[in-house]
Amino acid sequence: MMPPDATPALQPARMVSDLKELRALTGNADGAQRVCWTETWARARGWMREKLADLPVEITVDPAGNQWATLRGASDQVMLIGGHIDSVPNGGWLDGCLNLVAGLEVLRRIASEGTPPVTVRLVDWADEEGARFGRSLFGSSAASGHLDPDELRDLSDHDGIKLLDALAVYGVDLDRAREAGAELANAAAYLELHIEQGPVLESLDRPLGVVLGTYGVERHTIRFTGQSAHAGSTPMDKRRDAFGAAAKLGIEIREIARRHGGVCTVGSVVTKPGIVTAVVGQCDITLDQRHLHADALANMLEEAKQASERFAREEQVEVSWQRLWQIEPILFYPELIELADAAIGETGSTPHHLPSGPLHDAAEVSRAGVPTVMLFVQSLRGLSHTKVEDTREEHLELAAQALDRLATKTMDWIVQHH
Ligand SMILES: [Zn+2]
Repeated sequence: MMPPDATPALQPARMVSDLKELRALTGNADGAQRVCWTETWARARGWMREKLADLPVEITVDPAGNQWATLRGASDQVMLIGGHIDSVPNGGWLDGCLNLVAGLEVLRRIASEGTPPVTVRLVDWADEEGARFGRSLFGSSAASGHLDPDELRDLSDHDGIKLLDALAVYGVDLDRAREAGAELANAAAYLELHIEQGPVLESLDRPLGVVLGTYGVERHTIRFTGQSAHAGSTPMDKRRDAFGAAAKLGIEIREIARRHGGVCTVGSVVTKPGIVTAVVGQCDITLDQRHLHADALANMLEEAKQASERFAREEQVEVSWQRLWQIEPILFYPELIELADAAIGETGSTPHHLPSGPLHDAAEVSRAGVPTVMLFVQSLRGLSHTKVEDTREEHLELAAQALDRLATKTMDWIVQHH
């Protein structure tokens, strides 16, 4: 027999080969196909259950369809490690499942050492991507209590299949989904490792980052109303050009974003009458503003409103605003951010602090009041939600080591604080 310490308990290379196995099982030439509430997604989950079967864990599925693996510890206090095995159609091989497969590897290491000081649970959140029915963060928002069943009740997919029917196939009753909140009882910390999905870490040549929180978002439509008029017979100084005002605002919001260190995007411009021979009488644009700090986000919004009124005056048009959606910034837990810094430092690299533009399940868990932190690992070319999404294998292995160190530090932290 081999002595128990012949191979190290944490084997990052095994995690990479597990990821490749999952890719082969649930992807094709177009990329990952683990869209939630489909057979391929269910196959991915079955694969994960087989991997977990080697460990002394209990596997359960909650009323929102989240899959949990629980390793009982000396204490009822729980450290959660989470991710999502679902993908967008034609997605990448790492988005969401890296979190889980790295968590599996960490769980193997912890279990190899006997009973951990706290209970450790690995959660696979259901339908993070919302790829089929358009509602992302389904399972985690059900657990956090932010899911409103009435907003989802009438959703259907491209083929007309109702969400309610798709959920029923997997034993999920929409009206009971929020009972998943009971799973967060005793949750003392939540850890999530994710690919960055952006270009920042690569541009800084840093493999790993610590996420400070997720951006708050203000999303609006802005309507400029002028007078449509003949493009030939209307002199330039007699025009009430709705597009003129909208175009000025489209440039100005980029300056606003730079001034405050946030991001602002005009993603859609619709003109009426929208023909080549008419001055634009009505122009609707969308504005998406994001910032990590609520006061800065409020300032960006206020400055955009003032600018829109100034440009409306200059072009002699009217302007009106309508809010589409907003969410406050969600800041991760300062003491866990410090532990994450230390964990990355121990792997020999320097952590970079950054906000997350996309929302993640971690944001929902944090909103539920559970101390939360996320690690990002560098994405090559900043690309995700495409089959060309990739990360260097050495960076994946480093990320597994950092998550493992963070898990140990977090368990100690929980023991000290409870
Ligand atoms: Zn993801």
